[in-house]
Amino acid sequence: MSLETFTGLPEGFEVPLEGPVVRCPVCGRNGVLERPLEAMPFCLHAQECTLFSDGLRTEPVDRCDLPIA
Ligand SMILES: [Zn+2]
Repeated sequence: MSLETFTGLPEGFEVPLEGPVVRCPVCGRNGVLERPLEAMPFCLHAQECTLFSDGLRTEPVDRCDLPIA
């Protein structure tokens, strides 16, 4: 299991398979803008990655829910 943080990435950077890095309007730190289908968009600042036999799972550990614009 490893912790992946996005707060140190520059704004506008595109994280492969995740999304663009934006400045979070809620807390002011940088994070990856996630737009899950049929769910509230959120800004992801850190996630835990765990490798299972059937693939990699990621669990958000530090995120801010964004108000719908
Ligand atoms: Zn935030």
